[in-house]
Amino acid sequence: MSVITELDQVADELRDADKLLLTTHENPDGDALGSLLGMHLLLSQLEKDPAMFLAADEFPLPHEYRYLPLDGVMNEPPNDLEERLVVFLDCGNIDRMPVAFLRTDGIRIVNVDHHHDNTRFGEVNLVDPSASCTAELVWRLAHELGVAITEPMAEALYVGLVTDTGRFMYRNTGSDAHRMAAELIEAGASPQKVNRQVFESLPFCRLKLLARALARVHRLDAGAITATHLTREDFVDTGSDEHDSEGIVDHLRSVEGTVVAVLVRELLAEERAGLRKVSLRSVDDTVDVSRIARGLGGGGHLQAAGFTTVLPLPELLERLRVEVGEQL
Ligand code: 5GP
Ligand code: MN
Repeated sequence: MSVITELDQVADELRDADKLLLTTHENPDGDALGSLLGMHLLLSQLEKDPAMFLAADEFPLPHEYRYLPLDGVMNEPPNDLEERLVVFLDCGNIDRMPVAFLRTDGIRIVNVDHHHDNTRFGEVNLVDPSASCTAELVWRLAHELGVAITEPMAEALYVGLVTDTGRFMYRNTGSDAHRMAAELIEAGASPQKVNRQVFESLPFCRLKLLARALARVHRLDAGAITATHLTREDFVDTGSDEHDSEGIVDHLRSVEGTVVAVLVRELLAEERAGLRKVSLRSVDDTVDVSRIARGLGGGGHLQAAGFTTVLPLPELLERLRVEVGEQL
């Protein structure tokens, strides 16, 4: 099935629906939230009733995204759920939204995403791994549906674009990403504003948490793996929450000789004590980190993936050494 057909199909679904429920994945990032809000604004222009849902425990949202106008997001299932078309954005796998009501029999799901390992869990799927971000798919849908890109929509979609492309530096940054950026800027998105809000308004605790992580960096296999870890104490002592470790792994990737960068952090929630969240980044296509993550119960992109594990740190690092070694 070609991508064009999927785009048409999803556009038809959106055109035909009156009431919708939009959602994304847990621990939403810039693309998740930008796509969610962008789609909400798109559907509002079509005079639909597009509710947005995020679980209550996602709040407060990561500091850098709190400025986004997401006040209307609901944290409870809507009473009229069965009347709503459910639209997942940026979610590769329905297990990444661990909310029971979204698995209710009989609900119709549209799945809009760019993860190459998307499980196609929707009744209708628009899954295009060549898209730089899910926001790009929302942008294409706006064109398909003849919806003008308004300034708020442009701002929201720009956040998804700029975060998922690593500020236009990752391999998913194609000419389409730049064309989209140009169009969003013409529609009123301000790169400088987004940069200030998303990348340069970080709470001071992040710098302290980064310092902890950098102080503990070590390299394995002649530097092919550059790794570090953060403990619960690191988070508590620096006054950080889980979102505050975002971006740390990219510092590790930037070091000469690194093939795979690894950040391991202990999860903070009481019920998740003993679990570790692992972030993997590879520098090029030599190693597909999503394959490693999938083998350990997670997933992601070729160069950015993650999983949650009960493995203790030494065993975990040993496992990663073996997995990376097999792909080298
Ligand atoms: P991060 O390391 O920033 O948490 O995640 C990087 C990417 O890996 C995410 O954009 C997402 O695609 C993927 N990812 C992270 N954790 C998981 C997980 O537990 N399951 C799946 N399927 N994907 C994950
Ligand atoms: Mn994305």
